[in-house]
Amino acid sequence: MATRKAKSVIQEFPLIRGLAHRFARRAPGLIQGIGDDAAVVEPTSRSWWHITTDLLAEGIHFNFKSATPESIGYRAAMANLSDLAAMGATPRYLLISLAIPRTLASSHIFKLYSGLMNACRRDRVALIGGDTSASEAGLFLNITLIGTTPTRRALFRHGAQVNDLIYVTGTLGDSLAGLRLLMPLHKAHRSRKNRLALSASHQRFLIDRHLHPTARVSEGQWLNLKRLATSAIDLSDGLSGDLRHLCDASQVGAEVELEKLPISAACRAYGKAAGRSPVQLALSGGEDYELLFTAAPGSRSTIEQQARARGYRVTCIGTIRSKRFGIRMSSDGKRQLLPVTSYEHFH
Ligand code: ADP
Ligand code: MG
Repeated sequence: MATRKAKSVIQEFPLIRGLAHRFARRAPGLIQGIGDDAAVVEPTSRSWWHITTDLLAEGIHFNFKSATPESIGYRAAMANLSDLAAMGATPRYLLISLAIPRTLASSHIFKLYSGLMNACRRDRVALIGGDTSASEAGLFLNITLIGTTPTRRALFRHGAQVNDLIYVTGTLGDSLAGLRLLMPLHKAHRSRKNRLALSASHQRFLIDRHLHPTARVSEGQWLNLKRLATSAIDLSDGLSGDLRHLCDASQVGAEVELEKLPISAACRAYGKAAGRSPVQLALSGGEDYELLFTAAPGSRSTIEQQARARGYRVTCIGTIRSKRFGIRMSSDGKRQLLPVTSYEHFH
């Protein structure tokens, strides 16, 4: 949309031309990309389209004081890729809309796009359009990502059945531990010769898990195409909250065995050094972008064998129970309700 002109560091049309020149590429099925009134794509086979969008506001979701434009872009794209991973979809096309403060230099926007497109490179997602406006209140970034699956083949939150096994990919809590390491208090610890008793390699691992998460796209496609999962969700807000979303959609309860939660050596070491429970980090930590999925008990050996053969890490952490049972955690044979300690907006 054309915007009312006022003095601005950035000019709309040269910016769009520059972004298109630098970041737009040909892609299968793409008939018309950036440069016309709409993008045109021709489906390459009969498929379901999966469409996800995210709106990020400066000061709410990100902040140029604590993150580089590249990492803001990278993490924003990864969050959308992770949503498609949880559907079992193949990511294909990307649209990006911006509302840009008049004081922001265009080099920031190019760095933001570099981060976005780096995150998309592995899956060869093509930038096919967007919109550009000025903003009086910080930068707004909207990402829309389109992916595909074969028809009638997708992972939903609503398919979990009583007695299904509950699995997660990867390890939990690393991103939150990494975020804490980046916070000013811990930075001070780090510079004062590691007063926080945590090795440099553990610190690097956790910070990297926070700044450069990897959406589990191929794991999601595997679970979907091989029909191994009955339901799935990605862990963006934290296990305790995201498990609840899956249980609500499936109308079931769950039991999570705390001893089984996959926690990295680095996260355990961080917990010890910082006096925090690693289990609590695993339950409440957001932005791990791992997948939480359920599977029929009879699929257990197939899942674990195939995961091993493909080099995917999956861990069974519990069992789906009836809705009446509620959502509980058990440890040492004792059960109690699992409180939601993960991230919620507007809190
Ligand atoms: P309109 O006035 O119809 O909204 P624009 O001039 O805004 O058209 O957009 C022209 C072309 O540039 C379109 O193909 C649009 O998708 C693309 N575009 C606009 N802004 C962006 C952006 N921030 N990132 C990527 N593509 C963009
Ligand atoms: Mg426009």
